Amino acid sequence: MLAVANQKGGVAKTTTVASLGAALAQRGRRVLLVDLDPQASLTFSLGVDPEDLDVAVGDVLLGEKDAGDAIVVAEEAVHLLPSTIDLARAEESLASRTGREHRLRAALQGVLDDYDWILLDCPPSLGVLTAAALTAATDLLIPLQCETLAHRGVGQLLDTVHDVRAYTNPDLTVLGVLPTSYDGRTRHARAVLEAITESYDLEVLEPPIPRSIRFAEAPAYGLSILQTATNHRGAQAYRDVADRLLA
Ligand code: ADP
Ligand code: MG
Repeated sequence: MLAVANQKGGVAKTTTVASLGAALAQRGRRVLLVDLDPQASLTFSLGVDPEDLDVAVGDVLLGEKDAGDAIVVAEEAVHLLPSTIDLARAEESLASRTGREHRLRAALQGVLDDYDWILLDCPPSLGVLTAAALTAATDLLIPLQCETLAHRGVGQLLDTVHDVRAYTNPDLTVLGVLPTSYDGRTRHARAVLEAITESYDLEVLEPPIPRSIRFAEAPAYGLSILQTATNHRGAQAYRDVADRLLA
């Protein structure tokens, strides 16, 4: 189970979850994607309208429904545990509930055997939903845009990982950072990437995901770039990262 987290918004967490999910499904793996963002971008981008849902991840975290009651089948046989705006209310309510960090792990226990890969799309914060994701996950992937200030938050995220290991999930592994929206032609992007990996002693997952307008277009079709632009280098980059995960 892989959490994709970074409390900074717009670093391609959701794009990475949708694209890796599609790539793993194309490799014949049984894939579940979990939308943990009340904005429900992942849910929308897989062509599911949150307004049409009676049950979603918020109900599951509150213990009112089983994960199996909320999971829907999206494109390319990818399964989705969707989010709706109600997740914001569920998150508030969870703040005062016992076992909040452990609830996602417990909720997914019943469906673990149905999937080869479960990818968790975290919200842009280090609150209870991200803590629950890091508690449930075996591994963490940190998408990062290689801008000067992009790494300001990485230390804070790693502090959270430290706490998670100490209190809720001792075995959490940090796979490393995935450079996204990467423009390898600029010396600047390369320099920032080096600075980040050196200062935090993190692996860099290869290849970097190139910057391309194609990524912004895909969600409008309810598909990932792997379906809308199969041969695009961005799609190929995510397939290569998926193959690294499988290796
Ligand atoms: P997050 O989930 O971290 O907030 P998103 O995945 O929603 O980030 O991506 C933020 C925006 O950046 C979206 O509009 C998305 O289409 C765009 N984007 C993602 N990856 C790339 C890329 N490699 N090149 C250009 N734009 C990208
Ligand atoms: Mg997102």
